[in-house]
Amino acid sequence: MKASVYHDVNDFRLKDMETPNIGYGEVLLKLKACGVCGTDIHKAIHRSVPPETVLGHEFAGEIVMIGEGVTKFNVGDRVVGAIHVPCFTCHYCQRQQYTLCPEFKQTNIVPGGFSEYIHLSERHVRHLLFKIPDSMSYLHASLAEPVACCIHGQKAADIRPGDNVLIMGAGPIGLIHGQLLKHKDVSKVIISDISSYKLKKAKKFGIDYPVNIKNENLKAVVNQVTNNEGVDIVIIAAGISSLLPEAIQLLRRGGRVICFSPFEQNSEVQIDASRFFKDEISIVGTYSVSPFEFEEAIIHISNGTIDAKSMITHEMSLDQVGEAINFAANPAEKVIKVVITD
Ligand SMILES: [Zn+2]
Ligand SMILES: [Zn+2]
Repeated sequence: MKASVYHDVNDFRLKDMETPNIGYGEVLLKLKACGVCGTDIHKAIHRSVPPETVLGHEFAGEIVMIGEGVTKFNVGDRVVGAIHVPCFTCHYCQRQQYTLCPEFKQTNIVPGGFSEYIHLSERHVRHLLFKIPDSMSYLHASLAEPVACCIHGQKAADIRPGDNVLIMGAGPIGLIHGQLLKHKDVSKVIISDISSYKLKKAKKFGIDYPVNIKNENLKAVVNQVTNNEGVDIVIIAAGISSLLPEAIQLLRRGGRVICFSPFEQNSEVQIDASRFFKDEISIVGTYSVSPFEFEEAIIHISNGTIDAKSMITHEMSLDQVGEAINFAANPAEKVIKVVITD
């Protein structure tokens, strides 16, 4: 089988690999679609994964082989899943902090989503594989993982009816958050970015106030929308740590900042610490997804809460993964989501 193997920045090679064998309880999946995620871009550009890694984790595919003991699935089933599975028994898992489970990041799909086939372990098959409706294309289904991640993040945000929410960053994650929020009974959603193309998409998705920070004052918009109170929630959906102090300034008393993006390693920022006590603000981190957000994500894609057709702007092939990553990373390009398809 073929896989796109990462070697270095701008160096992805299409390689012939042994098709994985499957054992008891395991599944072999033929990849049909795999989205290019912001974290794939981050890993490739910041060299945070070793050479010979196969990236890609937002996959949708067809089961082509099942191991002995697999009862939930059959050959021919159309499914989505994710990359890491928790153990469900450790200290973290007992407290529902599944993404912090020490085994979480040690479980992987083999070799990775940018390949023709992947091997899914017994634990993946048991807990982290979900059938999609016949009416849903593999292309659209590849959004299930990022949508599930956003649902996971919004659980941490404890968003309430009538809240005003600011999303910093109108990339795929910011736009998914925006669409999920518009589905909830929040009041106003503001989204900020420097790309007029992305902000135009935000408007199309019904997000109330797209703000281009190149020529608009975000604080002035927040003040106008919230009657100078500040927003209830800020979701940071761009990997820029200097957004954190700014987010804190834009919060109302008792508000929450949700950090949804990987910030640079060891990045330090200065914040107004006095606000924690006198204003009871909080900052919450959120990472990845647990097995408990997928079914909801699939429903949101199939009922149109998430406009998958407008989100996926480009399809590319397995031999174009390097180009796809550079393209998706370039803020000047008119791109939201790139998906690698077979
Ligand atoms: Zn992702
Ligand atoms: Zn665990």
